Amino acid sequence: MSTATAAELVPFAPPDIGGAEIAEVIATLESGWLTTGPRVRRFEEAFAAYVGAPHAIALNSCTAGLHLSLLAAGVGPGDEVITTPLTFCATANVIIHVGAAPVFADVDPSTGNLDPAAVSAAITPRTRAIIPVHYGGRPVNVAAFQALARRHQLTIVEDAAHCVEGVANGRKIGTTADFTCFSFYATKNLTTGEGGMVTTSSAAAADTIRIASLHGMSKDAWARYQTLGPTRYDVVVPGFKYNMLDLQAALGLHQLNAIDRHLARRTAICRRYDEALSNLPLGRFSSLPAADVHARHLYTVLVDPSAAGFSRDDLAAAMAASGIASSVHFPAVHLHRYYVDRFGFTRGQFPHAERIADTVLSLPLSPALTDRQVDAVIHAVRGAFRS
Ligand SMILES: *Cc1c(COP(=O)(O)O)cnc(C)c1O
Repeated sequence: MSTATAAELVPFAPPDIGGAEIAEVIATLESGWLTTGPRVRRFEEAFAAYVGAPHAIALNSCTAGLHLSLLAAGVGPGDEVITTPLTFCATANVIIHVGAAPVFADVDPSTGNLDPAAVSAAITPRTRAIIPVHYGGRPVNVAAFQALARRHQLTIVEDAAHCVEGVANGRKIGTTADFTCFSFYATKNLTTGEGGMVTTSSAAAADTIRIASLHGMSKDAWARYQTLGPTRYDVVVPGFKYNMLDLQAALGLHQLNAIDRHLARRTAICRRYDEALSNLPLGRFSSLPAADVHARHLYTVLVDPSAAGFSRDDLAAAMAASGIASSVHFPAVHLHRYYVDRFGFTRGQFPHAERIADTVLSLPLSPALTDRQVDAVIHAVRGAFRS
């Protein structure tokens, strides 16, 4: 939900696309190979090396990655999967796609991340997997979830849509779970327009995901772009159409090269917001443990009406009137109509997630924002408190 007027001065998360990306897209078009091919393979290898994961499978979305990870883990009808209500709906929708039941546990109010103690209390004999989300780019307590997974023999699928650059307790995100799913959607830290990646240390799971991502065609079919003659293939499962294009990988290769520079710029913008807004009555999440790296996907403030004198929606409207976009991450998933109607979730079940969902506002954040745009955001937020 991006709120902006026609005269938008500061967009919410404009992509930072440079000359290298543009040249690579043109080279891809000129190569005559548009769909999954050599650039996807190179992007997978570069991404796996960046994360330090043995296997990376490029897909057309993070949602596809979450879906195929649950399938590869064998999650299906009769199973329960625990996740956070403070996430994008895709995290929970995929649980329903595989025929399992979504179970929510509340978040830690000081971080916005799934609370391991709440997850522990929600585990039943039917629980098969946990999907923690690195909310806003802040790594979850990976060690606590690993301990729960060991004790109860559960699969961990991390939703790292916000967290390409994250490090949890000294370990790179992408290496700390059975499956880690990244998003390259237009607003994400690394973008291919639409796109996603799954990393895993299991060669068998990587094969399953790769095959399921292209109609369930056998491995040989994946060599098609390298062969000249007619290709033989066999269908081993009724798969999906989730493969990434070389056109997308063309963007991804150069976005990956720029990842440290882009993170440094977002981190500097966050520091500027912190300094300029620190004396306003806005709520914030706690600071990070020393061995963690925050991927700085979102810059969030919490607008408690009793402290601020107005609501989150009032602040968003005041910013929109000044041409400043903002966004809400996220409306609580369990309170969406489908979840209420089908599963009977009600307000009050996850009070921390609900309070954050009702009061959180994300300010514009992107390496493509200029200092003047950042100053315009600060001016608009401070102005809302003066009037
Ligand atoms: C963006 C997002 C997704 C979905 O990513 P797609 O690549 O658009 O499928 C999943 N989870 C979270 C937390 C997200 O923000």
